[in-house]
Amino acid sequence: MSFTVHGLAVSRGIAIGRAVIVASSRIDVAHYFVKPDQVEAEIQRLRRARNGVVEEIEKVQASLDELGSQDAHPELSALLDVHLMLLQDEQLTSGVKHWITERHYNAEWALTTQLEVIARQFDEMEDPYLRERKADLEQVVERMLRMMRGVASPVAAPLPPADEGEPNGTLFDPSVDVPLVLIAHDLSPADMLQFKQSVFAGFVTDVGGKTSHTAIVARSMDIPAVVGARSASHLINQDDWVIIDGDAGVVIVDPSPILMAEYGFKQRQGEVERERLSRLKNTPAVTLDGQKIELLANIEQPEDAAAALKAGAVGVGLFRTEFLFMGRNGKLPDEEEQYAAYRRAVEGMQGLPVTIRTVDVGADKPLDRTPVRAGEDHLNPALGLRAIRWSLADPAMFLAQLRAVLRAAALGPINLLVPMLAHASEIRQTLALVDKARAQLDALGVVHGPVRLGAMIEVPAAALTIPLFLRHFDFLSIGTNDLIQYTLAIDRADEAVAHLYDPVHPAVLHLVANTIAQARAQGKGVSVCGEMAGDVGMTRLLLGLGLRSFSMHPSQILAVKQQILRCDTGKLTAWAQSVLAAEDPAALMAD
Ligand code: PEP
Ligand code: MG
Repeated sequence: MSFTVHGLAVSRGIAIGRAVIVASSRIDVAHYFVKPDQVEAEIQRLRRARNGVVEEIEKVQASLDELGSQDAHPELSALLDVHLMLLQDEQLTSGVKHWITERHYNAEWALTTQLEVIARQFDEMEDPYLRERKADLEQVVERMLRMMRGVASPVAAPLPPADEGEPNGTLFDPSVDVPLVLIAHDLSPADMLQFKQSVFAGFVTDVGGKTSHTAIVARSMDIPAVVGARSASHLINQDDWVIIDGDAGVVIVDPSPILMAEYGFKQRQGEVERERLSRLKNTPAVTLDGQKIELLANIEQPEDAAAALKAGAVGVGLFRTEFLFMGRNGKLPDEEEQYAAYRRAVEGMQGLPVTIRTVDVGADKPLDRTPVRAGEDHLNPALGLRAIRWSLADPAMFLAQLRAVLRAAALGPINLLVPMLAHASEIRQTLALVDKARAQLDALGVVHGPVRLGAMIEVPAAALTIPLFLRHFDFLSIGTNDLIQYTLAIDRADEAVAHLYDPVHPAVLHLVANTIAQARAQGKGVSVCGEMAGDVGMTRLLLGLGLRSFSMHPSQILAVKQQILRCDTGKLTAWAQSVLAAEDPAALMAD
């Protein structure tokens, strides 16, 4: 039966495909596709695990027999029989084989997928005895997983160190013929990054806000996504047909043929529109009154430089380096590995400037994959040890990053951007460490280059003390995602307060406007690199407030450029001031 689930629209477009549910069960396993020629080996691996578990259980049974204690533990003995039976269960074995052969899931993923399918059937059973067998099935599956992998691994296969070439377990085209859409309770930014190399045509998560990092990575992948869809991962079944409408934030499950046809049409229209926009790639971003606008790219990995160039970006305005640090089970990239990554980004941009932001982990970007939810590991992760606070707490780690950036600066133009500064003392410490990193390289005789230094303005305290920042930095970059979060006290990752996350709240607009005005008055560069920069609904206002540099995901650049080409900044200035003075700025935005 067809039904609809509503969430937040975070990445535009329509995706139609079969659901792949990534179970948010307590059993965390790797999810990746195996190559077609590895299918047989994967089934063998599974078979070995099953036989191993059978042996384990039979040994326990034998020891009960030896002790003559079978009679003393009739329940245990019966339970072991049930487990042995479940291990041979046709629905489990054939189902798991199906996921491996038809979908090319790795064995662990196939096993947990089938567990989910059967568990749902158990849940619907009237008979309480049978319902309870679900727990036995879970135990059996857990035993098999342990047998296969030793220790349970996190949701996605670990990202390999950059220089190891094609890793085992990388997601690649499994040559499945139906499009697949991923449905999960939650996906950490590191998982999303892993899925970036995958075949999924769209994403839906139960949790997350519009500017949560999971949503940001989905947007960077330029595929339709809906987050904050509450219980989607429970309501949708494995293999259901699903339409994801990333423009409306709606997920249609088991759609009728008429709806399928309608959305198929919309999907093709979107492709035509993209094709039309792509013709603007080489058109300079100049307004009707001749103002040149700088359109820069936000990237998460050095390899994203290709997409940036393809979209016509004139540089990278934000390289979120934390993605090099995440999902590595605590093993951070050393100076060499970072240098290699920054070098690839610089080379990838072919002489255009690259703005490298120092690591910004913490809050909804945990180092490892388990997403940290408020109230679980930390009381208030967004207000805790993240970004520059994290870096200053570990100077050796920070110095390694700074040295790697300075060395890469010998290869091309680099701007060094520091996130989340709020205090003069943080500025002083940061600048002292940059000097120290340079001195360390000099002492070792290692070549390094000059960098322009920039500060992110993303904490209200910083936006209210701009002269301090202008004294110490060459340029400013406004992180509207965090600036909105911290100004309005709204957790950007929490879908429960997503309706209060308001980019045009007068307080936010004043902080943005003042930052732009003060930087311009001093002749210093200022850009916006938060999601606001890539929102075509905000382009006119930002231009009217004097912004001339925008940094966004490559996928948004052409749409924003199209908007810019239609604008006359002379006419927008007065209007922007009226929006700024309004009690309800949103009401004027459509004027
Ligand atoms: C921001 O806060 O606007 C920003 C660009 O940084 P991030 O989204 O990575 O926190
Ligand atoms: Mg930020």
